[in-house]
Amino acid sequence: MTFDYDLFVIGGGSGGVRAARIAASEGGARVALAEEYRMGGTCVIRGCVPKKLMVYASEFPAALQDARAYGWQVDAGGFDWPQFRARLEQELNRLEAAYRGGLTNAGVTIYDQRARLVDAHQVELADGTRFRAKHILIATGGRPFIPEIPGADLAITSNEIFGMDALPGRVLIVGGGYIASEFACILNGLGVKVTQSFRGTQILRGFDDECRSLVARSMAEAGIDMRPETTVAALSRHESGIRATFGDDAQETFDLVLYATGRVPNSAGLGLEGLGVGLGARGEIVVDGYSQTAVPSIFAVGDVTDRIALTPVAIREGHAFADTVFKGQARQVDHELVASAIFTQPELGTVGMSEEDARAQGKIDVYSASFRPMRTLFAGREDRMLMKLVVAQDSGKVLGCHIVGPGAGEMIQMAAIAVKMGATKADFDRTVAVHPTVAEELVTLRNPSRRD
Ligand code: NDP
Repeated sequence: MTFDYDLFVIGGGSGGVRAARIAASEGGARVALAEEYRMGGTCVIRGCVPKKLMVYASEFPAALQDARAYGWQVDAGGFDWPQFRARLEQELNRLEAAYRGGLTNAGVTIYDQRARLVDAHQVELADGTRFRAKHILIATGGRPFIPEIPGADLAITSNEIFGMDALPGRVLIVGGGYIASEFACILNGLGVKVTQSFRGTQILRGFDDECRSLVARSMAEAGIDMRPETTVAALSRHESGIRATFGDDAQETFDLVLYATGRVPNSAGLGLEGLGVGLGARGEIVVDGYSQTAVPSIFAVGDVTDRIALTPVAIREGHAFADTVFKGQARQVDHELVASAIFTQPELGTVGMSEEDARAQGKIDVYSASFRPMRTLFAGREDRMLMKLVVAQDSGKVLGCHIVGPGAGEMIQMAAIAVKMGATKADFDRTVAVHPTVAEELVTLRNPSRRD
């Protein structure tokens, strides 16, 4: 059988781009990649990157307030959303070009079209062109999910938020996960009146209880109207905005409604039906440790497989796939102890087990320090940080490390190396502190705050 390409990648996001680049540049493969939207995928175009830039933008009012306490004569003035948005667009164009350049320099042929599978070795582009490929990699990511309620089409998702014409006066954010909580803080920081409605008793389900409580408390103190155990029954257009009817029949009007109620794998319309590729209950493509589907020539990486929906994980999966198939280095991705950060204000950085999960598995000691950091204490703010180690009582091994406060995302990356190496509490203790920092609290936690 002759093939046009050794590898055809569908999807130009983090996982697909990495796989294509490595297969072509290091594996010597003839590679093509199809992307229907902008190169870079969710993370670069409408996720992590623009989100983080919005986080930076939203932190300035607090920083300026602190600056005044430190003796600076400054005035914040107003926030110019169109100016920021134009700059953001420039930056995304730069990044998109860099992704494109990386692919073409590696010799990858790019098709700016949607593609779907015809059979185990054939793909068809939207314009009808067909190619035969020895291997096909599906890296189509995920998309926001909005529950079916009357008026759901009046709501936007994180896909649309970066392109808003103007900042709303009042926003309703529905959901209690990563995206909802991050945007609640961002918009609040930018001066929008934010209401966050979520069905659970607390935001950030699955994270360490003490940490998520502190994040939620801080968000409420910063002025976000947190509404636990609430559901939205319907949305309707009203002369003064979008009217939300809550589960208890109460009604309220907002200028914008943002739904962040989870994401689902993007596997529909790819022609997978009848090919023998297994799909899970959420539409995720079922793969083995090598990202191979039940059809030997078809692989899938990233959010479409619904393993851990994080960019660095998709990149690892794409890279391991290329190493395995095109470089003769069979390699599986280790999905254990993946650290992550939620860019709420305050940030939450986490690796390993929460106190609750660890306790369910055995006896633990919990070391935690809650304190007001020097920088903001001086400025008269009440903000508290939390540093926490969850330690196995029998082995002394650190099972989980959790940080709430400024810089938590940066700190957890470092702590994750130690935790991944299997560090014990004694290893943390014999590491001399860097003073004066907030991170030093991680190596100076002397007595357990809780012992089982
Ligand atoms: P999450 O899974 O984090 O949160 C979904 C939220 O929506 C939960 O609060 C959930 O409630 C709620 N929900 C789900 N279904 C419904 C429903 N039918 N009605 C009302 N509420 C509902 O999803 P996100 O969309 O926030 O993020 C998707 C993924 O993207 C994350 O899991 C993460 O992997 C990734 N991400 C990572 C970031 C980072 O690393 N900083 C940032 C942004 C996204 P409940 O808890 O009760 O189920």
